[in-house]
Amino acid sequence: MRVVLLGTGDSPGTPVMGCHCRTCEDARNNGWERTRFSILFQSEGKNIIVDTSPDLRTQLLRANIDSVDAVIWTHCHYDHFAGFGDFYRVQTNVNVYTSKEVHEDIGRFMQFLKYRKIVVESYKPFEIGRIRFILADVNHPPLRKAHGVVAEWEGYKVVVSGDTNRDIPRNTLELFKNPDLFIVDSIAPEGFKLRKHMNAETAMALAEEIGAKRTVFTHIGHFYPPHREASKIYPLGYDFQTFVFGEDASLEMF
Ligand SMILES: [Zn+2]
Ligand SMILES: [Zn+2]
Ligand SMILES: [Zn+2]
Repeated sequence: MRVVLLGTGDSPGTPVMGCHCRTCEDARNNGWERTRFSILFQSEGKNIIVDTSPDLRTQLLRANIDSVDAVIWTHCHYDHFAGFGDFYRVQTNVNVYTSKEVHEDIGRFMQFLKYRKIVVESYKPFEIGRIRFILADVNHPPLRKAHGVVAEWEGYKVVVSGDTNRDIPRNTLELFKNPDLFIVDSIAPEGFKLRKHMNAETAMALAEEIGAKRTVFTHIGHFYPPHREASKIYPLGYDFQTFVFGEDASLEMF
């Protein structure tokens, strides 16, 4: 199984249009960026995408993905679903998995598209390409429903926190326990007071609480110092960072 962080930015991405902070200027001057949130899971020749970033077209082209077998949506925010429309231009009838509530909410924006809505209940496993997925409820006010994702394959476990604050339900924390990789929302460094997301301090505390073997931050805003500096202090993910599990683990790229 391969897991690729296609986009590690927050909703405006980095650099932010019109922003001339040190981080955004560093990104412009040194040619790096953080595109919006998508994660690719690959197993048994299947491509499964968690969230359809507004940047999905460029992400899929760059990752050489010819077709997508399934989409999983975590919640109804623009930066997590808007690219589905681009993707639909080349591919119809894709299977889309999420809860009833998230299907209803995103469905209002996608009325003109045809896709197979597969309703899954939180905490009930479903399988795609031999990966066993579970959606677990997290807390992302003011949304009525938002999910994290647990993916298990051949004894490996990857947990995606989804967009969430630290106030996560107990049964979700139970399910998140002991992942080999924890991909966690950490939009800003410690000290930032946040209602909808976690900062570096709360994200690391959560990682410790669930016993994550390895942690990588995503949904990263320009509030951090420039990537090269900040990545010495924080486990910051970056676009196209790839994690390989199983026999191909020697191919892990950093
Ligand atoms: Zn900025
Ligand atoms: Zn969100
Ligand atoms: Zn988001």
